[in-house]
Amino acid sequence: MSAQRITHFIDGRPWTGPAGRTSPVHNPATGELTATVDLASAELVDAAVASAGTAWRDWRAQSLAKRVRVLFAFRELLNAHKREIAALITAEHGKVLSDALGEVTRGLEVAEFACGIPQLLKGDYSENASTRVDVHSVRQSLGVVAVISPFNFPAMVPMWFVPIALACGNAVVLKPSEKDPSAALALAALWKEAGLPDGLLQVVNGDKETVDALLHHDDVKAVSFVGSTPIARYVYEQATARGKRVQALGGAKNHMLVLPDADLDLAADAAVNAGFGSAGERCMAISVLVAVEPVADALVPRIVERMRRLRTGDGTRDCDMGPLVTREHRDKVSSYVDAGVKAGATLLVDGREGAVDADGDGFFLAPTLFDRVGTDMPVYTDEIFGPVLSVVRVPSYDDGLALINANPYGNGAAIHTNDGGAARRFQNEVEVGMVGINVPIPVPVSYFSFGGWKNSLFGDTHAHGTEGVHFFTRGKVVTSRWADPSHGGIDLGFPQNG
Ligand code: NAD
Repeated sequence: MSAQRITHFIDGRPWTGPAGRTSPVHNPATGELTATVDLASAELVDAAVASAGTAWRDWRAQSLAKRVRVLFAFRELLNAHKREIAALITAEHGKVLSDALGEVTRGLEVAEFACGIPQLLKGDYSENASTRVDVHSVRQSLGVVAVISPFNFPAMVPMWFVPIALACGNAVVLKPSEKDPSAALALAALWKEAGLPDGLLQVVNGDKETVDALLHHDDVKAVSFVGSTPIARYVYEQATARGKRVQALGGAKNHMLVLPDADLDLAADAAVNAGFGSAGERCMAISVLVAVEPVADALVPRIVERMRRLRTGDGTRDCDMGPLVTREHRDKVSSYVDAGVKAGATLLVDGREGAVDADGDGFFLAPTLFDRVGTDMPVYTDEIFGPVLSVVRVPSYDDGLALINANPYGNGAAIHTNDGGAARRFQNEVEVGMVGINVPIPVPVSYFSFGGWKNSLFGDTHAHGTEGVHFFTRGKVVTSRWADPSHGGIDLGFPQNG
């Protein structure tokens, strides 16, 4: 099969200019090179931002009713085409089809939330704030905003931002991951079919050069970034230094604390689902299970037994877990397994030797479990972003909490217990942005906001929900007095309400 060309989506159609620099796209399940993706130059970014700016000037003046009609139409189209988008995700990311479909559905929920934008954008009004003076507030769009997304959720993460940004009256330049760009392009085509005017959603594919062009562009007013912590920090620093509004969501090391009174089957299910779903390539994956003694001796065998039943293989087949996204990433994750053994952790399930149901030379590593992991070992300290689960044993709840709070990441954490008081303490004391109680992955629903603390988010505003609406709008307060024959006369003193 010859590699196809994937290009940009500019002004409502695929870009027809020369490819310039390119990057390879693989099917991770077979190892095959399936496409090359164009990488946008700074000049192309300039052109995309310029026509997005022109489209924005019309869009911001459109009635809410007209904007919402596009959102509803998009919602219907995405629902009708969600299986095709899921297939694109599986072909380039590798996650199994059911998981890809789940991702599209979670993205769809944000579009549904954005359909309520007239209610969300309603301002406040105070009549007679001062005598015959009224005050009201409005929220207005920013202009052209950039969305830069990671490989691990090629549809859902763009959808965290794009529907809300558009609903709020902005134009968007989306830069998807160059590893799996097709889902974002398919979404852009659906937006066009839904009636979104050309230029309002530009998709530029690219790498650092493209991202830098967006970060340094004067007409890009805000940046929503999701990716690894070093790049998130870089994006935040570069964009805020140029006066932009930024929400830069970074990496994670999520812990699950299991108390001795927990329902152990529920906890084991949660650890396996959240540890190995999407091959551990989720920012909400559980990578550390913190077992409060003596729970580990009863819990760990339950996890091992479940892991033995997991089928790893091509995501289009009847498997539970697919490959990793690239050969380099698989090798890096595999090197952490070597490092864990070397550091003295107990390797209970070795994914390097796991069976794989796939043809070709895919980027597989089966689920791996370490017990008795030390907090100084690389398997604990680093974000691995693969199917490697570490068990750390601690003597008490307080030790477990202290360990979680000492971690530089603060995306999410879960507690498993049947003690309401302990759960209540945990939700109050744990220093992360998202907490799960007897649930494996606390990904908030679309009308709440998604985001971590510490090195997992740079900026103040979390994604989607009402924080998303605030991020993509600026507040304005209008104080007005209308024709009344009385006139207050000249008074140079500071105005006071009366
Ligand atoms: P990444 O940081 O490598 O890439 C993210 C985006 O940045 C991509 O669009 C990429 O093209 C671009 N990029 C890469 N290198 C760059 C550079 N030097 N300068 C500027 N831009 C650059 O991340 P990834 O590997 O695609 O995704 C996995 C990471 O994303 C993990 O760390 C994961 O935890 C994180 N993530 C976090 C969340 C969250 O909500 N906090 C959600 C999903 C993924």
